[in-house]
Amino acid sequence: MKFHLKFIFVLMGLVLLALAVWAAAAKPAAPCDEASFRQFLQAYEARVMPLSRDAALASFQASISGKDQDYERSAALQIQLNKASADAGEFARLKCFRSGGQVREPLLKRQLDILYDTYLENQIPAAQMEAMVMLQAQIEQKFNTFRIRLGDQVLSDNDAGTILRTAIDSGRLEKVWKSSKEIGRLVAPDILKLVRLRNAAARQLGFANFQQMQLELGEQDPAQIEALFDELDELTRSSFAGLKRDIDAHLAARCGIASEQLQPWHYQDRFFQQAPVIYPVDLDAYYKDKDLVQIAKTFYAGIGMPVDDVIARSDLFEKPGKYQHAFSSDIDRSGDVRVLCSVKPDSRWMDTLLHEFGHSVYAKFNDLSLPWLLRDAAHAFTTEAIANLFGRLAASPSWLRAMAGVSAAEAERISEASRKSLRLQQMVFSRWAQVMFRFEKSMYEDPGQDLNRRWWELAEKYQLLKMPAGRNEPDWAAKIHIALYPCYYHNYLLGELLASQLHDQLAGPVLKNGDLDNPCFVNQPEVGRFLVERVFKPGMRWPWNEMIERACGEKLTATYYARQFVGVK
Ligand SMILES: [Zn+2]
Repeated sequence: MKFHLKFIFVLMGLVLLALAVWAAAAKPAAPCDEASFRQFLQAYEARVMPLSRDAALASFQASISGKDQDYERSAALQIQLNKASADAGEFARLKCFRSGGQVREPLLKRQLDILYDTYLENQIPAAQMEAMVMLQAQIEQKFNTFRIRLGDQVLSDNDAGTILRTAIDSGRLEKVWKSSKEIGRLVAPDILKLVRLRNAAARQLGFANFQQMQLELGEQDPAQIEALFDELDELTRSSFAGLKRDIDAHLAARCGIASEQLQPWHYQDRFFQQAPVIYPVDLDAYYKDKDLVQIAKTFYAGIGMPVDDVIARSDLFEKPGKYQHAFSSDIDRSGDVRVLCSVKPDSRWMDTLLHEFGHSVYAKFNDLSLPWLLRDAAHAFTTEAIANLFGRLAASPSWLRAMAGVSAAEAERISEASRKSLRLQQMVFSRWAQVMFRFEKSMYEDPGQDLNRRWWELAEKYQLLKMPAGRNEPDWAAKIHIALYPCYYHNYLLGELLASQLHDQLAGPVLKNGDLDNPCFVNQPEVGRFLVERVFKPGMRWPWNEMIERACGEKLTATYYARQFVGVK
């Protein structure tokens, strides 16, 4: 059969006309101009602001009390909050605002982009979303109830950690390490199901796979992030290889074996993500009789960012039932910022307190004249950078001297060992983060591959570990982040890079006399002034790399991290 071409055109025209008439009748087209978007935003803020504050408060309360009903209330509010940015009709309007090109005022346009991504993430069909949440909850429960064993003995994570750090008997180390990996086998099948569901959801939303989606929704170009990791690999490879030889020599001697006999269980950490102790410096000794909260308070006041109000609202010490990790929470983006932790007088908690108050000042000194939606850190890793910048001070001899009463002679005595320890920690963590980033990328690209093998290929290449002979276990699944905090780990390393980049700005252009190796910042209000004006106040006004470029004169780079810790100019 052959239709006349003109006839087909007429027919198509009629169909289109009918469709247009039908669409117009079904849905009076709401205008997509700038004024309408302002109205949309107002309604959104009125609905979401109070809900967001209530959810944050409920979560903070639940973390303190540990009570089931408090956790249930917190979860219910969180679900409500997610639903508030999920409506398909509203998402269609956001699409129209974007494609219409009439929203031009820069802050409005920025809010439109952020809202669009927030809604996009929530467009996964409810049944699929539910399946993922259920699987994730099951995996989380398995992690929570799993216990490491040594023979008949049941060990807490802390106990197992202590054995790995202190034992020198290879047989005992091997047993604890292997037992710590057994969780992998328990959760691997569920994680694989979850990975496939996540990929399917990402493809429905138009992304190549879940890893690509996660990065792109965080305004991170996957190719750029990979290039940065490649650059970092180049920069750290030979320096790490040298340090690894020092580590091996130290650990082999300690355990009374030859370097070639070292196995992954000899590295004092389940994943070799923390540096083993190979230099003689005991930071805990300097903090054991000190008031850490007072030290943090004095320090932050001295750099022009007092945290007295944050401390007054915080919950800083141990309580029964209380969540044992630490976090800072911005309750209302209007100055109500709180920290939760369980301070003890040791160096880890000094680091943690400085770290969490770093998050707090970022939130506290945001710009109240910015729209609510933009009053947040430019990216999760930029607030992590500020937290790391200050957390690192807890191990700095000159800071210890100024803030913790360490004598000049003692500070001098430990200066070499503490500098080396910090460098070792950074190099070990950096190589480990390579494994995590590349494994997740590879897994979401091809979940059907031999993942057990892939994991060890990467650990051998980047961490210079040796796979135990004949091992074929899902050791990748034993790392909780793979299942529960997916495709986020690379941000920890980006946070370290930015901490070094900001550190260089502070030591150089801002303070002019700052010591890169031995930072102090004590009583330097210029530090606070720079950070508040250049980093905190901009909030989400610009994409994160633009904020960094405006603050530091160049985009995020590995150069300063390498200069600080690798010694490459
Ligand atoms: Zn943090």
